[in-house]
Amino acid sequence: MLYDVVIIGAGLAGLQAAKSLRERGITNYIILESTDHIAGRAISRGAMWVHGHEKNPFYDDVVSNAGVRLAEADFCSPTSPTSYFYQGKPLDTSLAARFNALYAELLTQLELAESQSEIELPLSETITIIINKLFAEDDRLKPLFLQMALYRLAFYYGAETELVSTSGWASAEEFPGRQLVLAEGSFQDVFAKHYAAETEKVMFKHRVTDIAAPVGYEYIQVSTDYACFQASSVIVTVPLGVLKQNTINFSPALPPEKQKAINNLGFGLLTKLELEFGHCFWDQESSFIVLIDYDNAENSLNSGNVHYFMNMMPITGEPKLVAFAGGKDGQAYEYSATAGAAVESTLGALRTVYGADVVNAAYSKSSCSDWSTDENSYGAYTFIKEGQHDRDCKTLRKTSSLGNNRFLLFAGEATSPTHYSLLSGAYESGIAVAKEAYALRRQ
Ligand SMILES: Cc1cc2nc3c(=O)[nH]c(=O)nc-3n(C[C@H](O)[C@H](O)[C@H](O)COP(=O)(O)OP(=O)(O)OC[C@H]3O[C@@H](n4cnc5c(N)ncnc54)[C@H](O)[C@@H]3O)c2cc1C
Repeated sequence: MLYDVVIIGAGLAGLQAAKSLRERGITNYIILESTDHIAGRAISRGAMWVHGHEKNPFYDDVVSNAGVRLAEADFCSPTSPTSYFYQGKPLDTSLAARFNALYAELLTQLELAESQSEIELPLSETITIIINKLFAEDDRLKPLFLQMALYRLAFYYGAETELVSTSGWASAEEFPGRQLVLAEGSFQDVFAKHYAAETEKVMFKHRVTDIAAPVGYEYIQVSTDYACFQASSVIVTVPLGVLKQNTINFSPALPPEKQKAINNLGFGLLTKLELEFGHCFWDQESSFIVLIDYDNAENSLNSGNVHYFMNMMPITGEPKLVAFAGGKDGQAYEYSATAGAAVESTLGALRTVYGADVVNAAYSKSSCSDWSTDENSYGAYTFIKEGQHDRDCKTLRKTSSLGNNRFLLFAGEATSPTHYSLLSGAYESGIAVAKEAYALRRQ
């Protein structure tokens, strides 16, 4: 059977591409998915936020009418209730408020860097320049703040700030409005309802290994471990991490400029370590709990001995803390998770604040994500590497004409120059690629 379109990947981009195709009257398509489930990285150990709910098509079209409960949790707001601890002792509330306000100011100044000479610098250098302006030299909060900010930005990007470009920060557009998290279920549940018709067309456990356009034929052949499929157009939505690993063989090879874009773009890591307790022994109202002990970082699992928790009590009512770690720290968490070192280090940090007896008695179980070794993603999400530009996202998105009316198209968060890394980027790319596939089919 010759399909009009084969879509590779049943994440948000692939599902939305399918839905947009169907809305344009193209129903002769299938989706090939390597795992046994839809939603890709939007499963419970992955995406949980809608970053800005105003003028955000993903929120408007998919989330707002899904009938799910949402709660606000904003890392970046000066008013976000956050408990900060330094060497086991709480920072008093006015200092904590100052920390939050300064972080919000840091982000504002980073936005302004777009029009300044810092645009070509690694993000770490731009941050140092801004922090030197925000703090007096002898302010004892300065090193503490720097440690906290670098840790937070490392999990925001999935990479240390010295690897990230300032231009990448500037090009990424934030939606206005609130930072919302799901207070029940996961995006996977939301997608299962929203994309019910598309999910029926998913062929699960079909890992694509080869995409070939044989000379003289009118189809592109897509091979998986079990079968071959033929289509006029193929839409590739696998994560950038998979493209970087070269686990899909393209014949003819991808154009050099696309290969270069795949190399140039960064694919970071965000690790989530979930700790469940029998009861809540921390401040129930705080959205975030931050433990900083950089003076004693030498033997710590994570580089700055910063532990950053999201408190699930105000969101889901569960006595659960989710620790975030990005980049190298995330990798250290994932590599040591099975050996229990990540859990031990994180519980150890909590013990310094709340006491060993309290923590030990309440601790129930933990689970750690493994995005770095997951062969369906090999990481968490895209970032713009130091010295590089968002134009690589545009190059990645470019369609290749393979002759005889055959087209190889690309979508997914990495192809969005403005919303890479985000659900919104994946969503928008799905709409755009379907529009293009439709237009090409009619030529
Ligand atoms: C820990 C974590 C936290 C995140 N938090 C947020 C957040 O709070 N808010 C936000 O907006 N974004 C967040 N993101 C990013 C968000 O999840 C992604 O941007 C979005 O889900 C990407 O959608 P996609 O369709 O582009 O890719 P994916 O969801 O990765 O879909 C690609 C699909 O391709 C499949 N696949 C891979 N290889 C093959 C193959 N060879 N053959 C067939 N199928 C294949 C995969 O299994 C997957 O289902 C987070 C991501 C992670 C990992």
